[in-house]
Amino acid sequence: MSDCIFCRIIKKEIPATIVYEDENYLAFEDIQPLAPVHILLIPKRHWENTADLEDGAVFGGLFAIGKKIAADKGLASYRLVNNCGEEAGQTVYHLHVHLLGGGRLGGFGV
Ligand code: 5GP
Ligand code: ZN
Repeated sequence: MSDCIFCRIIKKEIPATIVYEDENYLAFEDIQPLAPVHILLIPKRHWENTADLEDGAVFGGLFAIGKKIAADKGLASYRLVNNCGEEAGQTVYHLHVHLLGGGRLGGFGV
């Protein structure tokens, strides 16, 4: 989608600090980090969010990449998070998983 920020990052129209890329996935540093390590994991195909998926297969790839990046960075402890919908805090409507770590993380919920 031409007006999607993350699709534009995939096309290298907007700069980002890319930490992983393959045929189907991209990972890059979050522009407003909420933890010492805050990386966004995205599929190159545009889905709006989890509710837009036919099935959950893409999360297998996203979590595998999160696990690999965490291992590469020497993180023994980390969090993988997906926000689906406005009330859950979703602000960018291109499916993504946050990889958070590098320090003690706060709780989450309502
Ligand atoms: P959400 O709130 O939708 O779960 O997460 C969206 C994330 O994208 C936020 O943490 C926000 O900081 C990040 N973000 C928004 N725009 C950009 C951008 O242009 N570049 C990068 N690297 N991150 C972005
Ligand atoms: Zn997109």
